[in-house]
Amino acid sequence: MRIVLLGPPGAGKGTQAERIVQKFNVVHLSTGDMLRAAVREQTETGKKAKDIMAQGGLVPDDLVVAAVEERISQADAAHGFVLDGFPRTIFQAEAFDAYLSERALDLDHVIELRVDEDKLLDRVEARAHQAKKLGKPVRADDNRDALKIRLDAYYQETAPLIDYYRSRHTLRSIDGLQPIDAVTNDIFKTLNV
Ligand code: ADP
Repeated sequence: MRIVLLGPPGAGKGTQAERIVQKFNVVHLSTGDMLRAAVREQTETGKKAKDIMAQGGLVPDDLVVAAVEERISQADAAHGFVLDGFPRTIFQAEAFDAYLSERALDLDHVIELRVDEDKLLDRVEARAHQAKKLGKPVRADDNRDALKIRLDAYYQETAPLIDYYRSRHTLRSIDGLQPIDAVTNDIFKTLNV
């Protein structure tokens, strides 16, 4: 099963992706997590991405596309994957479609988590607060200024993917303001389980 989760920062993509992974034994591919790991490990990609990410901007398409394709070509992804945070631009979506069609593969589901913009700041601040309380590192971009830039990037660059996928694949929109379990239920219904 090959799934893409779409939605603004703070929509709950990571949480729901984990639940899909547990149920279907697919690989969770979060480009945010991959890039944060690259920053920690100070790889070439990490060095290029670090400041852009901290400010809330988008990392250049070619770096992200290469990282995703490399990861997806590994054996454990053959059974399927759930992509969280990718694609984020029309360029990435087109590059990824080309990659899949060269391998005679297709996406099975594209799921949009819908959350009102005015709820997102609360969610992101709550996540930063929770991390602090648990003694975990707070993401460099979980603050008001970076979130504003992340939201602008989402509405300008990523939201057009909703129409892109609506016209090419079965795109389903789910109310991401519901409690976590209710969102999961709706996703599983969409996946026909
Ligand atoms: P969120 O969805 O909460 O903003 P992510 O963890 O998905 O968080 O991404 C964090 C940051 O990583 C983004 O703001 C961006 O800088 C970078 N990033 C992640 N995925 C992509 C992508 N597909 N293209 C470009 N940049 C990305």
